[in-house]
Amino acid sequence: MADTRRALIGAAWLEAGETFTVHAPATGEPLARVADCGPELATQAVDAAAAALPGWRAMAAHERADLMRAAARELTARADTIAATMTAEQGKPLAEARGEVLSGADHLLWAAEETRRLYGETVPGAHADNRIWLLPEPVGVVAGITPWNFPVSMITRKLGPALAAGCTVVLKPAEQTPLSAIEVAEAFVAAGLPPGVFNLVTTSRPAGFGQAVMTDPRVRKVSFTGSTEVGRELIRQSAHDVKRLSVELGGHAPVLVFPDADPVAAARAVARSKFLNAGQACTSPNRIFVHSSLAAAFTAELVRQAEAAELGPLIDEPAVAKVSRHVEDAVARGATVLTGGRRPEGAGTFYPATVLGGVSEDMLVCREETFGPVAPVLEFDDCDQVVERANATPYGLTAYVWTNDLSRTVRVAEELQFGMVTVNGGPLAPPQAPFGGIKSSGYGREGGHHGVADYLEYKYLSVGLGR
Ligand code: NAD
Repeated sequence: MADTRRALIGAAWLEAGETFTVHAPATGEPLARVADCGPELATQAVDAAAAALPGWRAMAAHERADLMRAAARELTARADTIAATMTAEQGKPLAEARGEVLSGADHLLWAAEETRRLYGETVPGAHADNRIWLLPEPVGVVAGITPWNFPVSMITRKLGPALAAGCTVVLKPAEQTPLSAIEVAEAFVAAGLPPGVFNLVTTSRPAGFGQAVMTDPRVRKVSFTGSTEVGRELIRQSAHDVKRLSVELGGHAPVLVFPDADPVAAARAVARSKFLNAGQACTSPNRIFVHSSLAAAFTAELVRQAEAAELGPLIDEPAVAKVSRHVEDAVARGATVLTGGRRPEGAGTFYPATVLGGVSEDMLVCREETFGPVAPVLEFDDCDQVVERANATPYGLTAYVWTNDLSRTVRVAEELQFGMVTVNGGPLAPPQAPFGGIKSSGYGREGGHHGVADYLEYKYLSVGLGR
């Protein structure tokens, strides 16, 4: 096993004393030991971020942008190495991992440009002798908590806008995927980011980290991506000193394939988003409603695509157990396995691309996030009622619509209760667009100028002219 990786706090790569082991999901083998930071090191990281804040927020915007661009260049230059690390610790295929690193660098580049567009506003004064301005200011020290499913892009999606806004950051990656996070931190150090601006705290005890940052009044904002359950706990804790919070939580995306759509194009696109990252994505299509007139053509193509899909292992044993339980439950309630549906023999936490036909809404696959490569197909005849069925979930992140009818597109998009609606394969997470959900999928946006605004306060400055 390679030697122990350390946490980055202020100017130093620190040994935590204790360590934890990261395993490869493809083989179950240990990969490396990582510093297991307790709450006192989380507080030390907040000390470093607080000390670095005045210098970072005062730096000229173009200088901050230069450093962020340099970090993006470093990430791009290291894309192959970081991707290999990500594939080893997370399991996704190398090409997906590499694409994620490059997309992470792109998010940084976009945010770097945004540093020069942090305009204030001039507001009409209350009377002739009064002027009012709104001045954008960084919220202050930010804590970021990221999940394992997109171990690099989830980090850069928080760092980019936070650093652009002039905030300093303490970031805790998921315990399953700290190694690629450490390599991201190394890229920032190589780019010359001042010490303390980005601190990386690795730990196997996330609740201790959460408690330390949520109760520290110097941390003014927490940006969390992960499960709705942990999100709820952080929302409760944020009441302590009324912290700002963004929570990007779970999803249960519906797909609506209307009778005028091209069933083959729709099935191909659904397969791409469904089997990406072995279905371990908050945007993963989880309830695929297909008009009964297209069901045969759509399902046949989806099965073909599933059988050709290249999938890595799932993140760990509990993930395989959950996927298996969901498939067994669906079959017990009358669904049919059209392909996949059985864990292969041998090492690793693999589960095949699976298509289920004859699915109904009482099944676990329709009620809980499966977070695996299972595509449940439901048929519909009533084009108005299907929107209600799609909305019948506590989640509200993404919905996918397939239709060529313009009026229907607008009507359905307006009626769907989701933060993001894509029609005929529209892309989801380019850096310039605000990504995020409603309802139990959380609040806050990442990407676009809305994403940067989440890290800003607008100070109201009212001046009497003394005439
Ligand atoms: P998780 O909530 O278990 O873990 C996410 C992060 O929170 C990890 O870093 C973990 O260490 C940390 N954490 C766990 N308990 C904590 C606590 N008590 N205090 C502070 N931090 C704590 O989620 P997961 O299983 O790793 O990730 C999958 C979930 O993330 C899914 O529900 C998925 O839909 C969601 N997700 C959402 C988005 C989005 O943008 N909406 C994107 C990716 C993933």
